[in-house]
Amino acid sequence: MKADMLSCPLCGGSSSEIGTKQGQWRKKDYTYRRCGDCSLAFVENPDCDFSEIYDDDYYAGNGADPLIDYCFEAKDPKRSIREYEWHGIVEIIRSLTDLDPKTRWLDFGCGNGELVRYVRENVGCEIKGFEEGAIARSAVKKGIPVLGREELARLGWQFDVVTALDVLEHVPHPAETLGEVFRLLKNPGIFFYTTGNAQPFRNRILKWSYTRPEIHISLYEPETMRRGLVQAGFDVSWPGYLPGYSSVYRHKILKNLSVRRRRTLFDLVPWRFLGRLVDWKLGLSRFPVGLKRHD
Ligand SMILES: [Zn+2]
Repeated sequence: MKADMLSCPLCGGSSSEIGTKQGQWRKKDYTYRRCGDCSLAFVENPDCDFSEIYDDDYYAGNGADPLIDYCFEAKDPKRSIREYEWHGIVEIIRSLTDLDPKTRWLDFGCGNGELVRYVRENVGCEIKGFEEGAIARSAVKKGIPVLGREELARLGWQFDVVTALDVLEHVPHPAETLGEVFRLLKNPGIFFYTTGNAQPFRNRILKWSYTRPEIHISLYEPETMRRGLVQAGFDVSWPGYLPGYSSVYRHKILKNLSVRRRRTLFDLVPWRFLGRLVDWKLGLSRFPVGLKRHD
């Protein structure tokens, strides 16, 4: 593969074409490229009509990602398997920092805002979401504090914790997004995110089921994220497999089996063991965490 002048949207390095993949939802070809410096894999010609991609059908699982069902989660959160994920995320954040009533937490790209609601009801710290479009408006109607871009700027708050769960793969300009997160954090502050780890799939990235070119336009390896975080001003830490990951994987495994509702039967599954096993293959916990801290 020969590098050309098309530069990487994360580090500015030169990139090479990996190949093309047809969208399953939009039947057109998308070209993936890889940065020679930071290994970011990205779509060269992403669709940026976000209000059409992320419409009501998308959030109901009838759009570019058939595995999500934000509507069911929002309608019946206590019976949704998504609660396993929220539980796991809170456990992970608790192991990284103290959560008390004064803690300010922003869930960046919060979708339907259900993690925000869950944290408000179960943790008791100050949390707000950030989201755009119709899904944000419906969350606000339900009383969930979800801010739009302008409100976020006007609020002038800074946060102790920022989370971005399965968000970074959707953004076309990751350097800008990481810079924005850095600015939103207090010093000291902590940035925790989840995104698919492209490293185990490096040689077959176009065949990876996560590679959905309409929506997953930036794919990262742990080293890609380390570079992106440092470039944005963060220090990084590598906490590895924290206990909450078992619950995060519990949700992911069930979601991939197209299960939506929680069942007591699932409690019989050895999730701690299974979570570690799946992490060994997928490596979500191999990503670094971003720390903003005093010089
Ligand atoms: Zn790069």
